Amino acid sequence: MAYKDYYAILGIPRNATQEEIKRAYRRLALKYHPDKNPGDKEAEEKFKEISEAYEVLSDPEKRAIYDNYGYSGLKSSGYSGFEDISDIFKTFSDIFEDFFGFSFEEKSQTRPRDGADLSYEIVLDLEDLFQDKKLEIEVEKLEACEYCGGLGYDLEKGVKTCETCKGKGRVTYSEGFFRISYTCPDCKGRGTIYVEKCSHCKGSGRIWKKKKLNITIPAGVEDGTILRIPGEGEAGLFGGRPGDLYIRVKIKPHPYFYRNKSDIIGNLKINFISAILGDKITIPYFGEEVEVEIPAGTQPVDEIVIKNKGLPDPKTGKRGNLILKVQVELPKKVGEEGKKLLKKFAQVEGLEDFKNGLESYQKKKKEGFWKKFIFGSK
Ligand SMILES: [Zn+2]
Ligand SMILES: [Zn+2]
Repeated sequence: MAYKDYYAILGIPRNATQEEIKRAYRRLALKYHPDKNPGDKEAEEKFKEISEAYEVLSDPEKRAIYDNYGYSGLKSSGYSGFEDISDIFKTFSDIFEDFFGFSFEEKSQTRPRDGADLSYEIVLDLEDLFQDKKLEIEVEKLEACEYCGGLGYDLEKGVKTCETCKGKGRVTYSEGFFRISYTCPDCKGRGTIYVEKCSHCKGSGRIWKKKKLNITIPAGVEDGTILRIPGEGEAGLFGGRPGDLYIRVKIKPHPYFYRNKSDIIGNLKINFISAILGDKITIPYFGEEVEVEIPAGTQPVDEIVIKNKGLPDPKTGKRGNLILKVQVELPKKVGEEGKKLLKKFAQVEGLEDFKNGLESYQKKKKEGFWKKFIFGSK
């Protein structure tokens, strides 16, 4: 019995991995394939030999017998190799489809595929958030061709039976004893082909189109919110579902106000007289005028809260508050008359010691001053 060195036949080391074995076989199978060497007996023999080597080495059980007991051990275990080439194709039909790409890729091209999702960015101003914002946007995307309904062919002329496979979807190639069956390359396995391509989409089933969409951005949305509009992404292929459109909302910073959740926050500059005596002022506020009541005795760090003037909560619709952070402005210069009045004011209010400097004022008030200064107690 002739000894066969399967490792040498495939040109691989004895410790080759399954992946290396498969790669080596693929390379050699392409070289000695009967289809490529019609009538060449030597190539045919070689093809049988490499296929046998592959069958043994790709099977862990057979490989172990071969490694331990050699070729004769394998034969006495009942292994007989291949009778003829059609035997090889029958055994390895999956591998050949994989190797030669007959089936897998073509099938995937006709399988329904979902359309891609699209994304879009919308930039809004803070004032846009006080109520639902309706907008019209234009999105450019692949839409199903309206002339052929996304099928890619001229619907009026229709389809006919594929002549290549006679409607079976698979083709059998045979030459002598060599037979191989694979997915029909003309109809991609469908069994029918169209009479004429759709002239509008050139057979692709989709067309680039600008589409206008009316969308509503809910009041009070946060910066960076992503809204999903189902079905408004790109059209699917071969009956696949369309993708979705994702709209990202960006909110431009406002020069005077910012938000914290549903509250709107801003600074309010008032003069010290208004802070001491109290006042009522009107401020412009996102398209309306808001009356602000400054209580008498307002301190420079106080916040004035105006209820329900913030943004609507996007879920509950309940409005937040407007929070004004008070900044008390002191005059940098005071006229002679003003000075007189301030001195008089100091006298009346028992603050006259200021004229001897802060030091004497502190001494007089002792730790009382510091307590007030540091802890802010009233
Ligand atoms: Zn066909
Ligand atoms: Zn079309």
